[in-house]
Amino acid sequence: MKDLEPILLPGIEAKRPLIIAGPCSAETEEQVMRTAKELASQGIKIFRAGIWKPRTKPGGFEGVGVEGLTWLKRVKEETEMYISTEVATERHVFEALKHGIDMLWIGARTAANPFAVQEIADALKGVDIPVLIKNPVNPDLELWIGAVERIYNAGIHKLGVIHRGFSTYDKQIYRNQPQWHIPIELRRRMPNLPIYCDPSHMGGKRELIAPLSQQAMDLGYDGLIVETHCEPDCAWSDKNQQITPDVLNYILHMLVIRDTTQTTENLAELRSQIDILDNQLLELLSKRMRISREIGQYKKEHSMPVLQATRYDEILSKRISQAMELGMDGEFMKLVLQAIHEESVRQQIEIINK
Ligand code: PEP
Ligand code: MN
Repeated sequence: MKDLEPILLPGIEAKRPLIIAGPCSAETEEQVMRTAKELASQGIKIFRAGIWKPRTKPGGFEGVGVEGLTWLKRVKEETEMYISTEVATERHVFEALKHGIDMLWIGARTAANPFAVQEIADALKGVDIPVLIKNPVNPDLELWIGAVERIYNAGIHKLGVIHRGFSTYDKQIYRNQPQWHIPIELRRRMPNLPIYCDPSHMGGKRELIAPLSQQAMDLGYDGLIVETHCEPDCAWSDKNQQITPDVLNYILHMLVIRDTTQTTENLAELRSQIDILDNQLLELLSKRMRISREIGQYKKEHSMPVLQATRYDEILSKRISQAMELGMDGEFMKLVLQAIHEESVRQQIEIINK
């Protein structure tokens, strides 16, 4: 994917962060126009609104459909903002293009389905429009890259991705787990592909928008897509995570944007300290595995099962609270422990089957 083009639309400064803002859903013409005008007066240049809403369960608000596209057209004419919406089918693409939508995005549920992504890709052949692809709901980097490649192969070279987090069974702090290592690996593999963060769907709560946006900026993300509504408490969808244009403006002004092109020499010393610590971590892990294998041997000799759920639960909850006391995210610690436990079980099973 060497010939990726900048996603920038004419008149938009090539400066981090690029901001896309607007309501989760277009609800009424009045709500769309009011939100758009307030955003435009804050200097926002790209408006978002969902027209077709993929809801987890039937009965939720499923979007106003084609009628809403005429409201977006009005936004474009009256505020000069660019307009963007989510597409999930060939028909959505045709309708969006017909109504002069400037940028499209593919939602997380759609990105997880190669048939749907291919259908959208086929509908976009020969069209020159920027497309942003959200991470699939499940934490599968290859599936995400596959979706990007499908759209790229259709000839769309103004491409970007949106990191909105990954769904999990047990919702804790975040509505969707960030799992930052996944987009970081994506950046390593596709350094030219712009990455935007969607702190609204990731956090699921208003108060998480600022810290998640800052974290995205610190990781060198190119921009943010933030759900913004003129009256968030009355929103027909995702109301807990929507903020007013005023609050958005405040959050954006508080963001600290650090230069990503700084020389790496200043960092050399800190990086060497990281290398040393990583080596120590590896040694410790290998020691831990050695002990775990000894336990495996003991279990084998005493015909005990490998997995002892209560012991595992105890370790999990103790270590997670210790980690949190040390200023680390509990979810992060849980992932680390799960990975260590998995490898430990694998090694014990090896011993038992010997
Ligand atoms: C949205 O952007 O409103 C949306 C439905 O997001 P996601 O696909 O990330 O759930
Ligand atoms: Mn939403």
